[in-house]
Amino acid sequence: MQWSHAASSDDAAPLALAYQPCCLCGVEDGMPVAVGEDFEYHTSRDAFVAMRCGSCGLVYLNPRPADSELDRIYPPTYHAFQFNAENFGLAHRVRSRLEARRLLSYCRRLGDTPRILDVGCGDGFHLQLLSEYGRRGWKLEGVDASERAVQAARDAGLDIHLGTIESADLPANAYDLILLIATVEHVANPSAVLKAAAHLLKPGGHVVVVTDNTATLDFRLFGTRHWGGYHFPRHWNLFDKRSLRLLAQHAGLEVEMLSTALSPVNWVYSVRNRLVDRHAPRWLVERFSLKSPVSLGVFTVLDGILNALGRGALLKLVARKPRHTADAIQADRQPNQSAPVEVNGHA
Ligand SMILES: [Zn+2]
Repeated sequence: MQWSHAASSDDAAPLALAYQPCCLCGVEDGMPVAVGEDFEYHTSRDAFVAMRCGSCGLVYLNPRPADSELDRIYPPTYHAFQFNAENFGLAHRVRSRLEARRLLSYCRRLGDTPRILDVGCGDGFHLQLLSEYGRRGWKLEGVDASERAVQAARDAGLDIHLGTIESADLPANAYDLILLIATVEHVANPSAVLKAAAHLLKPGGHVVVVTDNTATLDFRLFGTRHWGGYHFPRHWNLFDKRSLRLLAQHAGLEVEMLSTALSPVNWVYSVRNRLVDRHAPRWLVERFSLKSPVSLGVFTVLDGILNALGRGALLKLVARKPRHTADAIQADRQPNQSAPVEVNGHA
């Protein structure tokens, strides 16, 4: 490196790591596709391997940091904790307008008093947009495992649950809309998260998943090391359309819409990571940043063209909880009427 960075003094110590099978197939049938480092925050000097599952195409970090390392790999300088108007100026204003439009498009079919849950809500960026631009009767809630993020969101007056969607005390069959925006790539078990979301949705309610897309030109150009979507070592599971559809189906959800969406972010980070890795001078590296309107503008135009061809940098999935699900059947059943126990497929 040509400049000192803000990583902790013990960044030379290797991270504790844990091996994982594919979260969709439950088997270890992965082939390495990339080796990279924490190019953005330098929280350790480890090299990380991304594998592609031979069965479903999921790309996943293996091994990945153990749960005990979360505080280290999400340092206080992590951008999701600091994405505000003071730090990001124009980029914050533009992204807020775009995100507000996107969020409202997911809410078009909601009734007058819907209950909406943002999973992995961070400091409440999306919830604040919904409260600003949405309708008055909307009941907005968030859930996040980071105490720091939850405190910031609560300070902003938002209704936030501390914990994960699986562990927090949330009511079943209660929500009209559950948002998972830039969340499934960060969590240990996306299948468990989608199943928990399905459990909390009202029958007929919707879940929206937005996540990085591996079937893209930026992945093809940078995917063996520098691709921004890896966000080494913080993105643990990365999807294409096929594997994201499987994720929703495994949770018993019906996919209504699956498309790509425009984002310049992975392009900016891909170029930046390559420059950092090749020890480019700092002035050049800083040309590729979420604070740089020029690089954001150029890659917004490029990804806009790719998105029009169905190859945008993000995936966007809308899925519905069926009207008659196991949850609903369970709720309908008389209290003393126990279900037959299935053993090896035989009741
Ligand atoms: Zn798999």
